[in-house]
Order: sequence, then structure tokens, then C-alpha cells
Amino acid sequence: MPVAGTRWLIHNSMPVAAALDVVVFYPRCIAAILFFDARVSVMERLICKADAHSLRFLLCYVALAGMASAVEPTEVSGLKPLKERVLTQAEQQALSPEEVLSMLREGNRRFVAGTLTLRDHSAQVRKAALGQFPKAIILSCVDSRVPVEDVFDRGIGDIFVSRNAGNFVNIDVLGGMEFACKVAGAKLILVMGHEDCGAVKGAIDNVKLGNLTAMLKNIRPSVAQVAEKVGEGTSADEAFVQKVTKQNVRDAIANIRKQSPVLLDLERQGRLTIVGGIYNMNTGEVEFFDES
Ligand SMILES: [Zn+2]
Repeated sequence: MPVAGTRWLIHNSMPVAAALDVVVFYPRCIAAILFFDARVSVMERLICKADAHSLRFLLCYVALAGMASAVEPTEVSGLKPLKERVLTQAEQQALSPEEVLSMLREGNRRFVAGTLTLRDHSAQVRKAALGQFPKAIILSCVDSRVPVEDVFDRGIGDIFVSRNAGNFVNIDVLGGMEFACKVAGAKLILVMGHEDCGAVKGAIDNVKLGNLTAMLKNIRPSVAQVAEKVGEGTSADEAFVQKVTKQNVRDAIANIRKQSPVLLDLERQGRLTIVGGIYNMNTGEVEFFDES
């Protein structure tokens, strides 16, 4: 019997039994639980069979409810059990940039398949409290439909995430990347754009609104480059938006190398890889660029 069904039976049986007559109702309730729920241990079966005292019934009820509660998330939703721990410094240093990229690809496959890792966040918070040794830093748009940690099935202490509207690079973003890679030891920078990006569309249409006006100027060079190749376009032109989105990611990568000698040096030493990708809004899949 499904766990949810068992729990319903347990939760609904107890008040009724208490209100009527524990001795009368008890055997039927326990028989139903034992018959349908194979997880009930031999010990609990023996306790139940020993006698029909209400206190034992209550203990049995508490034990069964705890068991159902403990296993329910895995069995009901199909989530996989905890697979990754918070990284130690030694584990982080042993990873190559290629291995980190493979981990992100695998995590994204789990996200797309709906088999995210089940994590004990409370335990991970405690383990990560003394330091952090993340694998990568991901630069993403602020878009609420792109939950970065989930997209790569990452937990606490796994990755740095830098976000702004349109995933462009500026001095603040670069400072964060230099901290992540040079100081904290991350092995990979991923610049991730996404389909249907409002910031990209705003830059294409040259929107003027408050601070957005200045912010969108960061994306305008990418718009200009695409327009030079294929002609002017608007945000209604899907193909044009797509091209600008990709160009914007490529430009961000180029700016990282151009504006950060620290990161360029790490990349030349083979201690860092910089890659680009686009998040597909329909499938959740990240299409990584071939070039790095
Ligand atoms: Zn966006």
C-alpha cells in the first residue's frame, strides 16, 4: 500500500478508535496496517500481537507514523537519496575543471529528469559553517524561472552564484569571480544565459526606465554586434533575440578574459575553465557551448 495511504489509515484510525473503543477497533486497525505495510518490522508485529493494551497501541502508532514520515519523501516523489557531501578543501583541490564540468552536466540531467538529489540541508549548513570550497561559480540572470542550484542539482557549499539582469560582467562580478576562483579555489566559471530573457529584450528595444537605462547599456554591445551581422531586429523577432542572447554570453566570457588578468592567468595554467551555456525555458536543459 502506498505510504500516503498508510499514513491516512493511521492518522484517521487512531481518533476513531479512541472515541469508540480501543479494544474493539484495535485488532482491525492493526491488521490493516500489518497487511498493507510491509515495512512494519517483526518486532512491531510481536508488540502488536502481545496484547491489545491502548498504551502499546499508542507506541505502535507513533513508531509507524515515524517510519512513514521518514521514508515518504523518497518513495512518493522518486527523489534520489543524498549523494554528495559538502566538499572539503582536499576534495575540491583534487577535482579538475573537466570533472567539475561533467558534474554540472550530470546535475542538469538529473534536474531535467526530475530526479534531484534529496539533501539534508540542516546537516549541510552545519558542515559548511567552518569554510567553503565550492567547485564552480555560475553567472546567471536574475530571472525567477532559472533556479541555478536546482538547475545543476547542487546543494549548500557546492557552487557560487553571481546574478544580474542579463548575466553581464562588470567590476563587481569580476571581483566575485576572482574571490571564487583565486581565493576559494573554484575550478570553473559558467556564464549562463537563458531563453526569453527580459533584460536582453529590453536592451534590444533600447528601453529607457530608471536605473534600467544604464544597466541595459551593458548588453547593448552584443545587440550591436548581432545587428551588424544580420541587420536590426526587435524583441518580437525570436531568432534575433536568440542570437543576441548567445552573443551576450560570448561577450561576457571575452570580458572576463580581457578585464581580469587574475582569471586569465588561472585559465592559462589549466587551473580554471570558462564556459558558456543557454538555459532552455521549456525543458530545463542547459545547452553548453562547444567553445570554451
Ligand atoms: Zn534574463
